[in-house]
This record gives sequence, structure tokens and C-alpha cells, in this order.
Amino acid sequence: MLADADSDGYAAATRPHNSSIKQRPARVAVVSRPEDIAPTLDEVAALARSSGTPLEIVPQATGHGAGAPVGKGAVLLDTSRLADVSIDPESRVAMVVAGATWSAVNAAAEQHGLLGLAGSAPSVSVSGYTFGGGIGWLVRRDGLASGALRAVHSVDGSGRSRTAADDATDEVDRAAMWAFRGAGGVGSLTR
Ligand SMILES: Cc1cc2nc3c(=O)[nH]c(=O)nc-3n(C[C@H](O)[C@H](O)[C@H](O)COP(=O)(O)OP(=O)(O)OC[C@H]3O[C@@H](n4cnc5c(N)ncnc54)[C@H](O)[C@@H]3O)c2cc1C
Repeated sequence: MLADADSDGYAAATRPHNSSIKQRPARVAVVSRPEDIAPTLDEVAALARSSGTPLEIVPQATGHGAGAPVGKGAVLLDTSRLADVSIDPESRVAMVVAGATWSAVNAAAEQHGLLGLAGSAPSVSVSGYTFGGGIGWLVRRDGLASGALRAVHSVDGSGRSRTAADDATDEVDRAAMWAFRGAGGVGSLTR
């Protein structure tokens, strides 16, 4: 549900980890489940249509990478409550939802003698970090975090759920993997 500046939750959602950046979006949406992202984006589209003003969607997991002010032309999508992580030790693959941090991944991974390709700050989210390329301590030995990305479940700009992967049937989903591997992404990641 979209909340305006007078609502509970707006102040907390617009206080990014990088507190030097000012955030005053038109609305905030604090989602509690990955499934809430698609209907939230529909709500943003309806608001943009009814007001006749385009609205940019700014997903934010932790605000660690907040690099530019967010103003009235945007809706902030706060995914910080989406924190689930699961590890398949056999395939050595982690499944994370939008707001999961590297500290949560590595706390689960180390129980299997594994380690994710994290950066230096444990509070950074897997999604934002990986979409920026993911250059961490282990880059020389094991490569970029984005190089280890297997698939991205996301919602695109028209509210459609998509799965990007190198072997996806649709060429758009194969091309999206390129963007998710360092070009900042082309949708709102759910998982
Ligand atoms: C001042 C500063 C200092 C830093 N210091 C360190 C450091 O010491 N160690 C370190 O490891 N990194 C550091 N970083 C790097 C940086 O914070 C991360 O690499 C990363 O981008 C943060 O990801 P986040 O998701 O936690 O942050 P966020 O700010 O929440 O997101 C970062 C970007 O990812 C996008 N994004 C987030 N979630 C989604 C989603 N679900 N779908 C689509 N896009 C999404 C956001 O829109 C945003 O563009 C620093 C960055 C800054 C600006």
C-alpha cells in the first residue's frame, strides 16, 4: 500500500543507511512479502495515470548505496522487510529475497562451510550489491558476485513477473541478465 509523507512508516523508509542523501518521494511502499511487489507497482501505475504525472520506482533494500536524492517524481519501494535466505549446499546456490543482506547469507552459508561473494560491509543487500557488479574481497580468486548470479525473479515496468536467466526462452529475459549483472537492473527484483 502506498503511504504519503503524513503516514506512519514514511519517515523510517526515507532514512537510508547513507544518511547524507535526502529522500522525499511522493509515496513510499513498504512491502512485507515478495508477492506484494507486483500489486504495489500496479498501484503506482494507477496513481501515475490518475495524476497525469510519470512516477519513477526506486527500489531500496538498505539505502547503503543511496547515491542521489529521491524527490516528488518517485515512489520509494522499501524491501528491507524481505529477508529470507535459503542455501542448497548440494548445488552451492543461495536463494534470497529482495532485502536480504550478505550477513544473513553468510550466516546461513557458513553452516555448510560455504561463503557468498560479499562486499566488505555485511549490512549491504545482495540485490543492490550484485546489480552494481559486486566487487568484493574475493574478486581476484572467485570473480564478481554478478558473475555468480544464476537467475533473477522480478517485476518489470508493466507489472509483469519475469525470470531472467542465461537459458531463458524469451530473448528479453536472457538480455535482462546482462543488465542485472552490473548495469543496475531492469526491474524490481523479488527473488
Ligand atoms: C558512501 C558509500 C559507501 C559505501 N561503502 C561500502 C563499504 O564499505 N562496503 C561495501 O561493501 N559497499 C559499500 N558501498 C557500496 C554499496 O552500498 C553497495 O555496493 C550496494 O549498491 C548497496 O546495495 P543495497 O541494496 O544495500 O543498497 P540500496 O541503496 O538499497 O540499493 C542500491 C541500488 O540497488 C537497487 N536495488 C536495491 N534493491 C533492488 C531490487 N529489489 N530491485 C531492483 N533494484 C534494487 C537500488 O535501486 C539502488 O540503485 C558504499 C556505497 C556508498 C554510496
